[in-house]
Amino acid sequence: MQSYQMYIDGQWCHADSGQTYDAINPATAQPFAKVARGSRVDAQRAICAAHEANRLWRDVPLWERSALCVKIADLIDSTKNQLAHILCTELGKPHHGEAVDEADEASVPWRIAAEQAKYLESNTIPCADHSKRVLTFRRPRGVVTALTPWNFPAAIPGEYLPFAIVMGNSVCWSPSPTSAATACVLMECIHEAGLPKGVINLVTGPGAEVGDELVVNKGTHAICMTGSPETANIITQRAGLKPRLFELGGNGPVVILPDADPKQIATCIAYACFYAAGQVCSCAERILVADSLKQDFVDAMIEEASHWKLGDPWDKATNMGPQNNVGVLDKMISHVADAKHRGAKVVAGGNRPELPGFFHEPTVLVDFAPDSLVNREETFGPIAPIASFMDEAEAWDYINACDLGLVSSVFTNDIDRAWHWAENLNTGITVINDWTHFWEHHLPFGGMASNSSGIGRVGGRHTLEFMSDLKTIAFSCGGPSVDSSIWQS
Ligand code: NAP
Repeated sequence: MQSYQMYIDGQWCHADSGQTYDAINPATAQPFAKVARGSRVDAQRAICAAHEANRLWRDVPLWERSALCVKIADLIDSTKNQLAHILCTELGKPHHGEAVDEADEASVPWRIAAEQAKYLESNTIPCADHSKRVLTFRRPRGVVTALTPWNFPAAIPGEYLPFAIVMGNSVCWSPSPTSAATACVLMECIHEAGLPKGVINLVTGPGAEVGDELVVNKGTHAICMTGSPETANIITQRAGLKPRLFELGGNGPVVILPDADPKQIATCIAYACFYAAGQVCSCAERILVADSLKQDFVDAMIEEASHWKLGDPWDKATNMGPQNNVGVLDKMISHVADAKHRGAKVVAGGNRPELPGFFHEPTVLVDFAPDSLVNREETFGPIAPIASFMDEAEAWDYINACDLGLVSSVFTNDIDRAWHWAENLNTGITVINDWTHFWEHHLPFGGMASNSSGIGRVGGRHTLEFMSDLKTIAFSCGGPSVDSSIWQS
């Protein structure tokens, strides 16, 4: 069985304890590899290496740091087949669809970070004090902790690592244990590019131990994490005053106004529900449709659900893989049961298929209640819960029952209604007339303030800004403001 090691101070290494754990293929529930099980000791070794590296790395010219990111991107592109293979094996992503899609995308943020860092301008600022010349520029923060989830393990690290290093930071990275083999394949590209030792360190092992050490240890200076609001709350309590960038869970909504065409939009909405077996933060997890369109839309969604095929992720006919682990599967099952208990009807799917692994059928629910779990929480499974509304107030009753606010979509041909909804929905992003998954790596992405979907924004210059401190320098051109003459008057 293959084994995967961690990467500290420019070297592949075992855990200090020598321990490993089994990497499980979620499509079979069987182990396929061993992964080094790191501990606090390994995290501390990584922090020391990152510190040492940062003394030199922060002074490497930006253009050289940028060129190294491009070199890593090229190596990621030349490793696409291997990445797609491990994404299929470790995550159960259908090879001919999602696995190849993610492998294709993995290099993109490395190129964007490399490019945009070169054009990140800062200001000179006029002052009331005529003798002062004030300017700002960006300095590295130091050692950045990156904690990444399992759902896009080749793409999401790219939202942090290149942005951190191009700004002159070094990184201690802890991936989710259920996607650590993919992290190791990505790390191999970083190693091959010849990045100086210690600039990026990969520590595999449980988040509550390895990740926690990277959060609390005084040797790290900023934390970025993609994951659940629950983990973000723990990190917040443990991190003290360290700056944090959190990309957390979402729960739609998708709002379909009476002038939309339900048949035309159903395919795109079903994709937003079922792509990646619903394990995307931007999924359309609750759909609110104008009552006059309800039946046509429900019929179209039942038809759409029939196009999603579960099975062996290597099979070309399969376009939906398994849930990542038993916990995710259990949450899906409990959300469906809760919705039914509160009056919803299952009109497609609703069960586990007779397959090994952690699969769940694509499921369409109708008439869920506002207080049901599918409305109040993120399900993170292949679910399309539909409720209808007679007027806007009824739609807002559903929307306001959930405090997640990441991505929403509104379907209408009325420009005034579109603006009204876009400005009032409390989500970081609102897409008009398309699916909730629209995003490109240079666009700001994140949760709205005052809800549980995150803090800050990733995307292009927004991540670069988080990865640096704004330094203000004031030159006095007229000598000191106060001198001994004040005692002579
Ligand atoms: P998670 O359980 O919150 O874990 C995220 C990462 O944090 C994992 O590596 C985890 O390791 C680690 N971790 C757990 N406890 C920790 C602690 N006490 N200290 C430091 N690190 C700790 O999330 P997940 O299940 O991997 O990912 C799914 C979630 O991510 C969903 O809610 C999804 O919506 C969200 N997500 C958001 C975005 C976005 O851009 N907004 C994108 C993708 C996913 P362990 O696995 O060992 O616990």
